[in-house]
Amino acid sequence: MNKVVIVTGGSRGIGAATCKLLAKNGYAVCVNYKSNKVQADLVVQEIRELGGQAFSYQADVSNEADVTALFEAVQTTLGPVTHLVNNAGILRQQASLLEIDTERFNDVLITNTTSCFICCKAAIRSMGKGCAIVNVSSAASKTGSPFEYIDYATSKGAMDTLTIGLSKEVAAQGIRVNGVRPGCIYTDIHADGGEPGRVDRLSPNIPLQRGGTPEEVAHAIVWLLSDEASYVTGSFIDLAGGN
Ligand code: NAP
Repeated sequence: MNKVVIVTGGSRGIGAATCKLLAKNGYAVCVNYKSNKVQADLVVQEIRELGGQAFSYQADVSNEADVTALFEAVQTTLGPVTHLVNNAGILRQQASLLEIDTERFNDVLITNTTSCFICCKAAIRSMGKGCAIVNVSSAASKTGSPFEYIDYATSKGAMDTLTIGLSKEVAAQGIRVNGVRPGCIYTDIHADGGEPGRVDRLSPNIPLQRGGTPEEVAHAIVWLLSDEASYVTGSFIDLAGGN
């Protein structure tokens, strides 16, 4: 099988690390991004310099028409999509539930969860035996993120439920669906919440006493997509340093 993967939000952070590692493992990679073309193209350049195959594609994955165009572009450029990483995600300024308005709540759910639903739908239409999906959730799905972002945590809890349900629907077709739940990982996302130094602040509370790297998450994603994980579906790997 020619392995062709879409990584949503592949331009930065965990997504970028995952694109690079997948390319090293023989996948042809579509680096999806929403607005940061420069970063996405840097990921593509790095992959090509190492002899890999990749291209970048702009699509807001919460928009169904964009996702249709994304999958068509990948089919034309690289061939049928065999693997998918639903990684794109956002969080907003740290706030308590009373400070979160309905517009923000809906926006976070649409961007983080509806996007996953839309991309899974597009993917499983053409996937068959040996294909796999990994959904990038969060440890927040279990903690609930009180006083920070209950909206974000809710979106990840829903993503976990989608992962379990879909894994059972498509198991007989030989398609696997799993999730990863990172904890505190050094990426740009914490600045979006208003606290760029959040990982360092929380490090003393993490059993392993440090934040994680995007590469550490990428290794788990790549393993879950691989044939080495052929008997794993509807499962989650927590990457939260012991939390
Ligand atoms: P990040 O560095 O902020 O990168 C976010 C990525 O998502 C960027 O590539 C961005 O594209 C893309 N994106 C955002 N909205 C999008 C949309 N509507 N359509 C397409 N792409 C979109 O984030 P990260 O920390 O690597 O997070 C990646 C995933 O891991 C997220 O799902 C996040 O919830 C999860 N996670 C992260 C942590 C952590 O501590 N970092 C912990 C748990 C879970 P542009 O570059 O174009 O903006």
